[in-house]
Amino acid sequence: MADGNFGHISEADERQMLDAIQKWIEKKVAPVAMKLEHDNEWPADLVNDMAELGLFGAIIHPDYGGLGLSATTYCKIVTMISQEWMSLTGIFNSHLMMATVVQRFGTDYQKEYWLPKFATGEMRGGLGLTEPDAGTDLQGIRTVARRQGDNYIVNGTKTWISNAIEGHCVALLVKTDPDAQPRHKGMSMLIVPKIDPETKVPLKGVKNGKKLEKLGYKGIDSGEFIFEDYEVDAKKSLVGGEEGKGFVMATGGLEIGRVNIAARSVGIAKRALAESVKYAQMRKTMGKPICEHQAIQLKLGEMAAKTRAAELLTQDAAAAFDRGERIDMEAGMAKFFASETAVEVSLEAMRIHGGYGYSKEYVIERLYRDAPLMCIGEGTNEMQRIIIAKQLVARNPI
Ligand SMILES: Cc1cc2nc3c(=O)[nH]c(=O)nc-3n(C[C@H](O)[C@H](O)[C@H](O)COP(=O)(O)OP(=O)(O)OC[C@H]3O[C@@H](n4cnc5c(N)ncnc54)[C@H](O)[C@@H]3O)c2cc1C
Repeated sequence: MADGNFGHISEADERQMLDAIQKWIEKKVAPVAMKLEHDNEWPADLVNDMAELGLFGAIIHPDYGGLGLSATTYCKIVTMISQEWMSLTGIFNSHLMMATVVQRFGTDYQKEYWLPKFATGEMRGGLGLTEPDAGTDLQGIRTVARRQGDNYIVNGTKTWISNAIEGHCVALLVKTDPDAQPRHKGMSMLIVPKIDPETKVPLKGVKNGKKLEKLGYKGIDSGEFIFEDYEVDAKKSLVGGEEGKGFVMATGGLEIGRVNIAARSVGIAKRALAESVKYAQMRKTMGKPICEHQAIQLKLGEMAAKTRAAELLTQDAAAAFDRGERIDMEAGMAKFFASETAVEVSLEAMRIHGGYGYSKEYVIERLYRDAPLMCIGEGTNEMQRIIIAKQLVARNPI
């Protein structure tokens, strides 16, 4: 296993878990997703349900109170939920990326301190990498953490952080040595709470800026963090207890995040395809269902083949991760192909639905608005193709 933390459950146990989640989706998510999305309302009740289902601890080891699921099972869950409302998966996935940083790179003390709180959802959060002037070029970040005795003093601004406003803490990429060359050697990862983890009292020196308005991915909060002389205990916060490792944690260490984006994309594409197959049999023009027009058949055929290919690439990357293999290329391929497929398939679904595809009363316009984010988050698709190419050359030297 890649980090020694991903377990396997029997097929029967997996089936039982997926059935329980499917029932929850049908009973609790489907009736409210459309309204919450259009109102851009944070889904408090569904977040409580997800905590009860154990999703905030889905890939946290059982020793720390999590479910310890394999990446394969986890991806199936993510795809299922994304078929109904992709935003929900962002709430626990961003949180689990923060947890993965601790689980994979943290000290024993940090694992024991943070992971049980993360597993229950008592302390929820996300990953704080991006800044107003640095997204892809993470080495260009300006947030600085200066050591002062047993503490770090943090100053800087992060933006576009999922769960920033409704969450309680964040895995924060900082510069502990802003002058280091190469730049990544001066970067570290800190776990920084907004509230005291024991008393839940808000802490000084950290505040959220505005909640950011978006094309899609509604419901989940995307926001800014502003740190002004924010003080945090080094033993609890400096992941791994050693400075200079943050860049590796933020990039190479989180391929599972890319597989997750692929799984979300598969969910979007599967739903768009399913709606299209249904609608094409119901809608009639020229005296027959539109599924009997060859122009529509060509679309459905291509959508189905690409969606299945995206699903297989995602399963392939998840399985390689579970076997403990290096998966930067596999995760990049799955993320790139599945997200581009989600964009294409949701647009084709809109064309098949004609004017109704453009209506807010149908789910298609939401899938169409949600899909492009999958091409941007967790490393843009431009970068994924570059990663794939570099790996191809590295793995096949002449
Ligand atoms: C809804 C939403 C949620 C998000 N959630 C989070 C979160 O939870 N945590 C977090 O840290 N960030 C988050 N982000 C930020 C996201 O990760 C960044 O937007 C993304 O990394 C791209 O960075 P950028 O926007 O600064 O674009 P830039 O880095 O400025 O890139 C602009 C364009 O240039 C291309 N480009 C840049 N460099 C190169 C290069 N070297 N070679 C080729 N092409 C290049 C990019 O691919 C892109 O097309 C979120 C963003 C959104 C929209």
